[in-house]
Amino acid sequence: DLNGKTALVTGSVQGIGLAIAKALAGAGARIAVNGLASPEQAEAACAELRAAGAPEAKFFDADLSDPDRIAAMMQRVADWGGADILVNNAGIQHTAPIATMPRAKWEAILAINLSAAFYTMQAALPAMAQKGYGRVVNIASVHGLVASKDKAPYVAAKFGLVGMSRVAALEYAAAGTKAQGGVTVNCICPGWTETAIIQPQIDARAAALGGDRDAGIAELLSEKQPSLRTSDPSEIGALALWLCAPIAHNVTGTAIPVDGGWTAQ
Ligand code: NAD
Repeated sequence: DLNGKTALVTGSVQGIGLAIAKALAGAGARIAVNGLASPEQAEAACAELRAAGAPEAKFFDADLSDPDRIAAMMQRVADWGGADILVNNAGIQHTAPIATMPRAKWEAILAINLSAAFYTMQAALPAMAQKGYGRVVNIASVHGLVASKDKAPYVAAKFGLVGMSRVAALEYAAAGTKAQGGVTVNCICPGWTETAIIQPQIDARAAALGGDRDAGIAELLSEKQPSLRTSDPSEIGALALWLCAPIAHNVTGTAIPVDGGWTAQ
């Protein structure tokens, strides 16, 4: 039951972020929505979240590659009541070998996938400690735990996110009482999950296989994900919701794979 709680979910206009926001909305949380979106897409996401049960859903516009805009967004969220729950989900990908990785991609991936989470946590954690309840859920990746070629900035950022989350978990481990719920910081580490971010990789495989999209997905899965099944974003949402519950008060500093056995190998 998240009635009376407010959740800021970055990158929640689509994909895994929207699915997490819907799970939290279903439990009664107010949702601060963020992401790169047209006003129409942003309002559609807010409407979907109200329909899912959020008492309020409001769009907080900010390009998270810019620390000044993150600071301004966090101030606006604080003025709206502040985030009891912070989900750092916004992320981008670009695949290329190190030798040809564009400098701008390295810089953008580090800024959005890693630094943005530092700045949002820095702004949100002190108020969580004061309340004695707070939940930070950082959407890392299997690539926060193991590497794949052609993903140097992404892997660097996600390993960094897992490490930084452990530091935050330790710094806030003793904040709050069991009755209050405590302050926890955890990562979820998805494997292949059906969203827009993996479409370029699916398209590249499909093209190499004569345009067969299903065959492209099957090949990607067979290389890394032993279950041979993709995850649905709602399954990541269900885990995020569980991490926010009082029962998870002693689950902190973890990086939980949802990867069909990828990182068990
Ligand atoms: P997606 O492309 O559908 O969503 C990415 C979200 O991030 C969008 O809402 C987008 O608006 C937002 N975003 C991107 N750049 C931004 C910026 N500069 N400022 C603000 N918002 C920005 O993909 P997704 O799969 O839903 O990705 C969500 C998270 O899950 C990412 O961190 C991604 O790395 C992670 N992840 C995804 C998979 C997968 O297989 N889909 C696997 C592991 C981890």
